[in-house]
Amino acid sequence: MHKPLLDEHGRKASYMRVSVTDRCNLSCTYCAGEGQKFIPHPDILRYEEILELMELAVKLGVEKVRFTGGEPFVRKGFADFMVAAAGRFPDVDLCVTTNGVLIGKHVEGLAKAGIRRVNISLDTLDPVRFKSITGHDHFHTVRENIERCVDAGMTVKVNAVAMKGVNDDEMPDFIEFARSMPLDMRFIEFMPVGLETGWDDSLVWGCEDILNEARTLAELTPCTEEEKQHGPARMYSIEGGKGRIGLISPYTNHFCATCNRLRLTSNGNLRTCLFSDKVYRLRPILRHPRLGMEAIERVLLRASRHKPIGHDLLKCMPAGQGVCQTRMASIGG
Ligand code: SAM
Repeated sequence: MHKPLLDEHGRKASYMRVSVTDRCNLSCTYCAGEGQKFIPHPDILRYEEILELMELAVKLGVEKVRFTGGEPFVRKGFADFMVAAAGRFPDVDLCVTTNGVLIGKHVEGLAKAGIRRVNISLDTLDPVRFKSITGHDHFHTVRENIERCVDAGMTVKVNAVAMKGVNDDEMPDFIEFARSMPLDMRFIEFMPVGLETGWDDSLVWGCEDILNEARTLAELTPCTEEEKQHGPARMYSIEGGKGRIGLISPYTNHFCATCNRLRLTSNGNLRTCLFSDKVYRLRPILRHPRLGMEAIERVLLRASRHKPIGHDLLKCMPAGQGVCQTRMASIGG
């Protein structure tokens, strides 16, 4: 009998984010940073190793797994891997977070395999601005792929990092976008994660300001917990619209008290808090000739037990600096 992944504050880890690569086909200004060093290939977990860890995590009570990156679709065989994972874990809520550039040709296969939920990152609805943020000219591809996912019947959440001076003049377009399509348009506060990614307090476009601005443009009604379904976002329906608006406020109003997340990085490090550099190295145990899954189980239980509550980490953050030195792209967001 396996024990659940409980911590000292009564939280149960039931959601694991699994990064399959730290490489990305975009270089977003706020995420990539200068002079990136990538994890060497031999240190990246093989798909079979990820499945083994998922198997254990599920036994310990993980009910939802989100694949992320870097950009998951840049890793060879990722779509086939997801289909295989969906077959092996039919009762697990499997979803993916992507920048939407490469998902197009896989949409139908994924939908058919039961992948029903996809998060697509898109910080701007302006093609020129898209290029200046990401370094690449893929705006129209991403827009088309969002539509493809919607047409395939997937639940689509579009996530924009909200940044002052970058996209805070686009609310009318974002509202129109969410009004015209059955999707959730969600704003995520710019987080102090990673060095050299230009984070600064003055760039944070806080959720209360976002909401106030959105309310000048549309009649918004808060969704109930049941309507909201998944995730830490506060959701609002738009009067007369097909989609909804959502706000995720890790910075101004963090949700640590209800955090149920664990993160597995592509090199096999377990992280229990996005705002901490503390890692539990699972790969050496996984590849050890004599240590088995029982050893990993012990680490998972220990790690979960000591999951930080978070408040203190945010409180002691030096002004103008990130709390976590690791790049978001190698953690997976
Ligand atoms: N490539 C995939 C994507 O674009 O969604 C998955 C990985 S990406 C690191 C996951 C999410 O983290 C993206 O939505 C990205 O915009 C977000 N992100 C990266 N750096 C961030 C930061 N400093 N603050 C808030 N969100 C950030």
